[in-house]
Amino acid sequence: MLIPPPPRSTRLAGCMWLERIVYKVRMNAAGILLEEYRHALGAKSGVDGAFLNHFFLTLANIEAIALLPDDEAAAAFLRFPGVTPEKIAFWNEIAPNLGLKGFPMEGRVSMALSGPYKHLKDKFNIRGALRFSEESGCSEPSRGVYKRTALGATYDSLGSERYMLTEDNRDLRDIAGAVPYDAVFVMVNQKRYGGGGIYNFYCTFATDNQWSPYIFLHEFGHSFAGLADEYFTSSVAYVDLPPTTVEPREPNVTVLLKGRPLKWADLATAGTPVPTPWEKAGFEVLDLGLQKEREALNKRIAARMREGAPQEEVDAIKAQAEELSAEHAKLIDAYLAKSKFKGQVGAFEGANYIARGFYRPALDCIMFTKGAKPFCPVCARAIERTIARYGE
Ligand SMILES: [Zn+2]
Ligand SMILES: [Zn+2]
Repeated sequence: MLIPPPPRSTRLAGCMWLERIVYKVRMNAAGILLEEYRHALGAKSGVDGAFLNHFFLTLANIEAIALLPDDEAAAAFLRFPGVTPEKIAFWNEIAPNLGLKGFPMEGRVSMALSGPYKHLKDKFNIRGALRFSEESGCSEPSRGVYKRTALGATYDSLGSERYMLTEDNRDLRDIAGAVPYDAVFVMVNQKRYGGGGIYNFYCTFATDNQWSPYIFLHEFGHSFAGLADEYFTSSVAYVDLPPTTVEPREPNVTVLLKGRPLKWADLATAGTPVPTPWEKAGFEVLDLGLQKEREALNKRIAARMREGAPQEEVDAIKAQAEELSAEHAKLIDAYLAKSKFKGQVGAFEGANYIARGFYRPALDCIMFTKGAKPFCPVCARAIERTIARYGE
C-alpha cells in the first residue's frame, strides 16, 4: 500500500518538514513514492526547495541521511553547518503555512501602517500569495544582472534606474488569483532602492532597503489611491508631461486654474496664502546637487558591476551609496524644517514632475520626499476615501 508522507507539522530533530522529506526520499528509493509527490521531490519552487535552501542543504544530503534510522538521521541533520537552533526555530515558525493559500504575511510587511492606514487597519485583510522563484532578487539590466524569477520584476523600467516593474501581467494575476483581492503589491527580495506603482494596477517595492517602509507607502499611494508624485526635481521615466492648463485627475496636485476654488479648499489652513511661498529656488539647487552626487555613485556601481569588479569592492560602493542616501535625506529634511509654512495646507509650487505651474498641498509629504514622515492631509484624505469606497 502506498502511504502519503507524514504531515509537515511532524518534527524530527525538532524540525518540521525534515521527517516528511526524509520519508519521501526513502519511499522514492524503494520505488513506492506516490506519483504526486515524486515529480516534485526536492523541487526548487516547492517547500522542499525552501527547506533545503534555508538550511544550505542539497537533496543528496537528505538522501545520505535517509539511509540511517530516524534517530541517527536526526543527529546527522543537526551536524550540518547550515543547521542551527535559531534557523530551526525560524523555519518552524514559517513552515506551517509556507506555500499555502492565504499565507499570512502581515507580520512581515507590518504594512508600515502609518497615518491614514493606522486607524483604518481593521478595514484591511492582507493575504500573501507565495510563489518561489528559481533565483532570488530581480533583474538589474544597467548593472548587467539578469535573474529568472516568477514575475520577471526588473529595475531600469522605462529607462529609469530605480523604477522597478513587472510586465508579466498574466503571471502576476495567476499568482494573485489564489486569494480574493482588491489591490496587489509585489514584494521583491532586494536590498537596492526601488519600486513602482501604477493606479489600479499594482505596486512593487524592494523589501530590504533602508527605505523599504517608505517605498511601500509611497508606491501603494500611487497604485491604491491614485496619488500623484509631488516631487518635481528627480528625473523620471515619463516624457509626455501633463499640461498645466487642465486640472489633473490626481487628488493631490493642482494647476490652480484662475477663477476656480482651490481643489482642497476645505482642508486649507486659514490665512495661508495661495500660492504659498516657500524656499523653492534654494531647494532646487540643493536637491539637484545631491542627486548628481548619488547619480555619479550609482553610475559607478553599474559600471564596476558590468566590468566584473570584485564583490567586496561593489559591496563597499553600495554601502557608501546607502549612507549617502540617508545623509541626503537628512539634509533635505533640515532644509524644509526651516520653512515658514511647513505643516500648513496651501498650494506649494512644484509637483507632478513639473517645476512651474503645478502645485502640491503641503511643503512635505510621503509623495514628495523620502523618509518616515506623514502623508500631507490631502493625500491622507484621498487614501481614507479610497478605503471607504472599497468598504461600501
Ligand atoms: Zn512616486
Ligand atoms: Zn501629499
